[in-house]
Amino acid sequence: MTGDPPYRDVSRTVDERVEDLLSRMTLPEKVGQMLQLDARGDIKEIVADKLAGSILHASPRTMLEAIGLAARTRLGIPLLTAEDCIHGHSFWPGATIFPTQLALACTFDAALVERVARVTAVEVAATGIHWTFSPVLCVTRDLRWGRVGETFGEDPYLIGELGSAMVRGYQGAGLSDPTAILATAKHFAGYSETQGGRDASEADLSPRKLRSWFLPPFERVAREGVRTFMLGYQSMDGVPITANRWLLNDVLKQEWGFTGTLVTDWDNVGRMVWEQRVCADQTEAAAVAVRAGNDLIMTTPDFGTGAQAAVAAGLLAETEIDAAVRRILRLKFELGLFENPRAPDAGRQAAVIGAPEHAALNLEVARRGLVLLRNDGLLPLAPSTPRTVAVLGPNADDPHAQLGDWAGASGQVDWMPDGHPRELIETVLDGFRAVAPGDWTITHARGADIERLVPDPEGPLYPDGQPRPPLSRPAPADPALIAEAVAAAHAADVAVVVLGDTVALTGEACSTATLELQGGQIALLDALAATGTPTVLVLINSKPAALPDSALRCAAVIQAFNPGMRGGRAVAELVLGHIEPTGRLPVSVARHVGQQPVFYNQIRGQHGNRYADLTQDPLFVFGEGLSYSTVEYDGLAIERPRVGVPDVVRATVRLTNTGGRPATETVQAYVRDLVTSVTWADLELKAYRQVRVAPGESVTVEVEVAAADCTLVTADGRRIVEPGDFELLVGRSSRRDDLLAARFSIT
Ligand code: BGC
Repeated sequence: MTGDPPYRDVSRTVDERVEDLLSRMTLPEKVGQMLQLDARGDIKEIVADKLAGSILHASPRTMLEAIGLAARTRLGIPLLTAEDCIHGHSFWPGATIFPTQLALACTFDAALVERVARVTAVEVAATGIHWTFSPVLCVTRDLRWGRVGETFGEDPYLIGELGSAMVRGYQGAGLSDPTAILATAKHFAGYSETQGGRDASEADLSPRKLRSWFLPPFERVAREGVRTFMLGYQSMDGVPITANRWLLNDVLKQEWGFTGTLVTDWDNVGRMVWEQRVCADQTEAAAVAVRAGNDLIMTTPDFGTGAQAAVAAGLLAETEIDAAVRRILRLKFELGLFENPRAPDAGRQAAVIGAPEHAALNLEVARRGLVLLRNDGLLPLAPSTPRTVAVLGPNADDPHAQLGDWAGASGQVDWMPDGHPRELIETVLDGFRAVAPGDWTITHARGADIERLVPDPEGPLYPDGQPRPPLSRPAPADPALIAEAVAAAHAADVAVVVLGDTVALTGEACSTATLELQGGQIALLDALAATGTPTVLVLINSKPAALPDSALRCAAVIQAFNPGMRGGRAVAELVLGHIEPTGRLPVSVARHVGQQPVFYNQIRGQHGNRYADLTQDPLFVFGEGLSYSTVEYDGLAIERPRVGVPDVVRATVRLTNTGGRPATETVQAYVRDLVTSVTWADLELKAYRQVRVAPGESVTVEVEVAAADCTLVTADGRRIVEPGDFELLVGRSSRRDDLLAARFSIT
């Protein structure tokens, strides 16, 4: 050996290397390791002066410089680099941008989601990024919340299934795998339980409610080996999440045995001073954050000086900082960064970014996620007669709306002002032009605008110096645009109108007060409905909209959410019947914003079941989605109706395809606990299976639910199985009328 210090010696254990390195570090070097700073600042100052251990939002240009700067610091500790690659490599020009999580969830297909994450990791790992801030395991509650599209929807079980799949895909064969990236379980936990949908508002959650619905997906991925957790922004019961020692330490680390690394959300530590005002200054905030068990502190540049001052003032022991630094260094050693900082690799980038097989997977997942919600028989369009199809609406040809948030020009980074290369994105209009028969005519009119962007009157910057995005104001209905679209519809055999929302109406601090289609869209739809031309409504939006009556007069409705780069082609293929509809809703669709919340697994026991002025039923329910065929369910039978807690409830149900096209059914199994010691959800999804049924065919499908999963959370917060009588409910959606029931008991 060359006389290198022990921490550089690969033959030593990770623990030995960590301890050796830690023993050589000064306090400023230690607190520096805890800093995760925004690489869009002065990178030399960040890495060489502040000694940041981690960076995020490094442009492709900055990344190499940052890695070099870290190598030249006194101890040469490599950087840990992170990015929000949450539906593909969001901010790498030309990377494969997949459907958003909500759109992915419509596939109900964990294996497919795992492949999406694997491909994302392969593209990301080639660019010098070690860590993605994904998946989002927040449970959708109030549809007004701006971040619904980042979630896998409203059901904790489905979120756990798909979230685990994503973690497996990202983390690949383990940290020594050069194509693996670290996954993040975020935002821990309860962030989505908003007040009126407002982002990061107080989450009114008891520990029992947290354990009932919000923690299960996180526990699931913690046990699956996710390496990092990111905190949310909210406070619960007066305690900002950053200071919640009970959740971070007692639950996550002690109870679930999580030994990985934590990262705060953006300036969570600073927010305890300037936003939540529970700490007098950065010194106190740093002490509180370290004491609660945080490791990496995202974008609170003053944390370094604050933490040192806290040690000097005796508010914090250096050994407490050491504990966090150990967890950060361990991750770096396990990733092998001291031997290979995993710098960007131009050769690999050329081979993998946007590779044809990745684009093929992107099309496959987009196809699988489209949800057909209504069809009066118009779809699929018969190929025989030459036709004119008018492709209308503001989202028919809008690449940004189609990709949605966290992609290209969505506002989080400054190096892609125009977004991803236009030629990589197939809008619905592109899709029809590409796949319609050669003798068909495809026409197009925009028909309406959604919004006008205006500067935020509060000024161009947030208090922490971040740029404030412009505000979205509804665009007035434009009679000339509507007239053009109406003329196109009149001249066509079929109109396909693509409506929805925009990036400015989506995401952080962009919750919406209403769920309605904005701007001139309702006027456009009303006018199109009056033409009498059979119309297909396609919704490209980040989250479910409350639809106007004219939407329900359309011959067909397809919910696409943000279907990724190839989503428009998938829509055209679906309309033309080149593919079958297979998607199912992972979230309930409200009729009216005032119905919030409408998730299916509500607690029993309210007076009546409707509002005086409106039904309480959602328009479309969790699990709903049509095929181009009709499939009957019958003969639900439970093999052994009395089981013990260690047993599995096994049942069979028969599916018969009574229509003329193949169908892929998502057979859903819910459980209802008939009498519970505490109030509980009336039904909960416990399992699902996807089955292809050919026309005329009958198949018997086996459904299994572990009795140990038929749990509830007691008044004192324990998750248990209460022996007694249950119902197994099996069918095509969570709608009560769609479910067959059979009784079983757990002894
Ligand atoms: C978001 C996180 C994201 C982080 C880094 C925060 O504002 O809440 O989801 O990972 O920024 O971009």
